Amino acid sequence: MQEKETSTYLQENLFLKVFELAGASVIVQANAPHFTVVAASNAFLQTLGLAEAKFIGAYFFNIFSENNNSAAVILKESFNTAIATKATALIAAYPLNLQDGTKLASTYWSATNIPLLDDSGQVAYIIHTPVDITAQLSLKHEQAARMLNLQIQQDRMNELFMKAPVGVTFLNRNNFIIEYANSAMCQMWNRYSPEEVIGKPALEVVIEAAELRTVLEKVVRSGTHFIADDAPVLLEKNGKTQTCYFDLIFEPLHDAENHVTGIIGIAVDVTEKVEARLKLEDAEQRLRLATESTGLGTWDLDLKTRNIIYSPRVAEIFGKSPDVLVSHQELRETIHPDDLYMVSKAFEAALQTGRYFYEARILWPDGSIRWIRTTGKVVFNGRNEPVRMLGTINDVTAQREIIDDLKTSEENLRLVTQAAELGTFDLDLVKGTMEWDKRCRELFGIYNNQPVSFEHDFALGLHPEDRQRVAAVIAQSMDKKVSNGEYDVEYRTVGVEDEKLRWIRAKGKVFFDENDKPMRFIGAVLDITENKLDEIRKNDFIAMASHELKTPLTSLKAYIQLLMMKARKRGDEFLLESLQKSENQVNKMTSLIYGFLDLSKIEGGKLKLNLSRFDINTVIEEVITESSPIAPNHTISFDKGKSLIVKADAEKISQVLVNFISNAVKYSPKHSTIKVAAIKQGTLVKVVVSDEGIGVDAEHQQHIFERFYRVDNPETKGFSGFGIGLYLSAEIIKLHKGVIGIESEENKGSAFYFILPLA
Ligand code: ADP
Repeated sequence: MQEKETSTYLQENLFLKVFELAGASVIVQANAPHFTVVAASNAFLQTLGLAEAKFIGAYFFNIFSENNNSAAVILKESFNTAIATKATALIAAYPLNLQDGTKLASTYWSATNIPLLDDSGQVAYIIHTPVDITAQLSLKHEQAARMLNLQIQQDRMNELFMKAPVGVTFLNRNNFIIEYANSAMCQMWNRYSPEEVIGKPALEVVIEAAELRTVLEKVVRSGTHFIADDAPVLLEKNGKTQTCYFDLIFEPLHDAENHVTGIIGIAVDVTEKVEARLKLEDAEQRLRLATESTGLGTWDLDLKTRNIIYSPRVAEIFGKSPDVLVSHQELRETIHPDDLYMVSKAFEAALQTGRYFYEARILWPDGSIRWIRTTGKVVFNGRNEPVRMLGTINDVTAQREIIDDLKTSEENLRLVTQAAELGTFDLDLVKGTMEWDKRCRELFGIYNNQPVSFEHDFALGLHPEDRQRVAAVIAQSMDKKVSNGEYDVEYRTVGVEDEKLRWIRAKGKVFFDENDKPMRFIGAVLDITENKLDEIRKNDFIAMASHELKTPLTSLKAYIQLLMMKARKRGDEFLLESLQKSENQVNKMTSLIYGFLDLSKIEGGKLKLNLSRFDINTVIEEVITESSPIAPNHTISFDKGKSLIVKADAEKISQVLVNFISNAVKYSPKHSTIKVAAIKQGTLVKVVVSDEGIGVDAEHQQHIFERFYRVDNPETKGFSGFGIGLYLSAEIIKLHKGVIGIESEENKGSAFYFILPLA
């Protein structure tokens, strides 16, 4: 027994030594489920941080805290396997969470569980040897994780690529075969799905293959990327080929030897952005053209920084070079000192009202003064603070000069009218308003500033005897069919407030619209009362004198004729000749006096026509016969034609003819011919008296029918006259609504004519 004990002891000690050398091991009694710890190597105790005294004899699985439940389960299972199979059971790996200071460290272990059999062949003990494999395992783990991550990443990438709004493709450098294309790329290529394009050469898929080829070949050749922004690309969309815009990137892919193996293509559809921009640019361009064509400059002022951006036209307006940037302050400094305050006020007001406007003078670098007109709008932010001001600027120097000139000429006109005591009237026939200036009002006896009207103030302000006549004249001036709008009339007014009678000369013009409707009637009025009264007195005197002279002349003529009869009976030639001459003089005087009488009648508006129907030829013949005594040395020719009936005052028409013929005799040489003719012109008859005399030059022709007008030159010096014959003739023809005129060439002769309507 002693021997046996000793040998057992030795055996045991020896075993334990070996056991110790083997490393971290523990011997557990196979008394499942108790698994009492029998022995543990120091290495084992150290590794797990266990105290031997507490551990030996304790339940093995006490060492596993709840952190290590899974390890306990794995080990228990392995122990049971070893017991059941009586063979070594291996555990490839199990996790063990060990206390490392305050933290738990995850560790991995493998273990061998060797069964020790007792004499009866039953498993009595298990030698459990764990090996820390944490280091090895984590390495593997990492690799695995990395692999896993890569896969995830790839999948994610794939998904991302597929879902990306950006077109992505991988092209093989061989024939640019499409190795990969995401759906965005396929959409751009109008392909339904990536499957349809993958494996095909890219150049067969796109429309503009030639251009793509150039780009791809360049990328392959250079080994560097190609980038294009807003590149126009033709695409088929909805059956139509249209231009779309892409930001394009082609990036070469290199192998280890730096050879290009393929190309990544990325395309971002920026069509909407580009189109919006193009539209904006287009609108901007149009706005610029529009503003530039009107000579407007545009500007944009940041109210915080006072930074100003402006179009080149602004620089031009300020006389600055468009190449040099000028600050807002510098532009401000060009404003004329006298206008600076006004501009500052306008600016301040704009910050309140939002609207900016002024017209001011600026000084150009060369010292000249220009006028500018600025209009602007203020932009406010959400807090209603002014942040920006934008607007236009225009050079209005020319307009201002016109306005200034206009003001000067208006002023001049005002001075002139004032000096001439002219009044002005302005009738707006569209609005139905009438403007009279102060002087015009005075001439109607109005001394207030109340509005005036045509019907009330003008029509009723006229002398009752003149109303109808003036109304007729105005009606005629306003009728485009019978007049060119000229208005020239004399009338009397009876002052509304002062009841004074005034003679007025009014001259004006009616302006018509495109439909010949009168729209404005403007003119001037002049007080001619003094002249008129003088004239009336003179006319009255002439009328009276002529009238008084008429009677003695008539009896003088009668006596002369009586004496002539007696002298003829006696055969006293000398007496007869003398009496003949006296009669001629008396006749001349008579016609002069009748002329004056007629004149005064006309001036007084009292010359009346005594109309009858007659053949103009007859009157001409009679006048020629009557005129022969005054034209003994002239031949008067007349070719009487078909009868030409007119409705006129025969006596007055004879008077005109007498005047024409006697002038012809007077102003043409002896023995020349005077031709009289009556020519039918449609519904009119033209009666012409032409002579071969001294003629009338163009300048004098214009005035020859005016009252008291006589041509004053050496040829006419020897002829007596008052210059009333042609004036009376013209008045008579005017009363007949006919036309009077002259065609003449100096020293060749004159042809005086009148035209009357045929009855
Ligand atoms: P007068 O009594 O002066 O002749 P008129 O009115 O008849 O007045 O003529 C005006 C002026 O016209 C004349 O003074 C004359 O100079 C010019 N005149 C008129 N008839 C003729 C004519 N046939 N030839 C040249 N001059 C004429």
